[in-house]
Amino acid sequence: MSKLLAVGTVAFDAIETPFGKTDKILGGSGSYIGLAASQFGIETGVVSVVGADFLAADLEMMNAKGINTDGVEVDQNGKTFFWSGKYHNDMNSRDTLVTELNVLETFTPVVPEDFKDAPIVMLGNLHPLTQASVLEQMTKRPKLVVLDTMNFWMDIALNDLHAVLKKVDVITINDEEARQLSGEYSLVNAAEKIHKMGPKYVVIKKGEHGALLFNQGKMFFAPALPLAEVFDPTGAGDTFAGGFCGYLAKTEDISFENMKNAIIYGSNLASFCVEKFGTARMQELTAAEVSNRLQAFKDLTQFDIKLS
Ligand code: AMP
Repeated sequence: MSKLLAVGTVAFDAIETPFGKTDKILGGSGSYIGLAASQFGIETGVVSVVGADFLAADLEMMNAKGINTDGVEVDQNGKTFFWSGKYHNDMNSRDTLVTELNVLETFTPVVPEDFKDAPIVMLGNLHPLTQASVLEQMTKRPKLVVLDTMNFWMDIALNDLHAVLKKVDVITINDEEARQLSGEYSLVNAAEKIHKMGPKYVVIKKGEHGALLFNQGKMFFAPALPLAEVFDPTGAGDTFAGGFCGYLAKTEDISFENMKNAIIYGSNLASFCVEKFGTARMQELTAAEVSNRLQAFKDLTQFDIKLS
């Protein structure tokens, strides 16, 4: 069976959207990536850390989905990473209200033996030094290394981010962050500059406006499925990344052509993620729902134009 190793946060989130507010619920880049990848019937291992306050039931839920959590350390001396955010009325932008690193401050990731040879590694949103440490533990160079990050790490650990980017094949990043990282407003120019930092493939996520894939001069665009109601966008980016990597791991094909399909799969899964608060929708998602919506994606984007 194909293997995917993912590192990321397993967190508590408190979210406020125009539709309502939650107390602390399960969140984190590692949780969303794991849940998205679990749709592909591959072996997914998550490396992360949680505190003594974390709920055993949440780890059990992930295990029931087939996610291997042997690499999730439970640090009995600290509290779980906590993030709180509030969305604006358009749901396309949000303010981070709180980021409490807690157990992440002293976290040293340990990759389980079984995953040290994983062909695909997803370095989810986390401190770039933690991302680099995961790569250093691999027994051989993975076929594909994908990295996701955010402005938080650009603000406090830019040099470390540049160092790890040199070892990465694909970066997934949102449009605002691509502009911050590159200093370029045009996303085409931003991708060009980011290529020079290391990644041969640059995926720029544009929320409800879809995603762009750049590969040194080649370009592909996938729309996001227009939805009547977006309830909570939290985790959509991580779900996209988990779907992207999960599809590539399952098909064992990392060509540019296959990455186009991976982007569609990622966008498809992200469209479910936003339908309920937190991870709720991803926890209940069925294979039939996924495949029906893929058909909707196909119908949305297929046309038969005659070129003379
Ligand atoms: P997304 O909406 O895809 O950007 O991801 C939201 C998730 O990222 C939330 O569940 C948070 O727990 C997690 N998160 C927020 N800030 C950070 C951070 N600085 N590092 C890692 N994960 C974070």
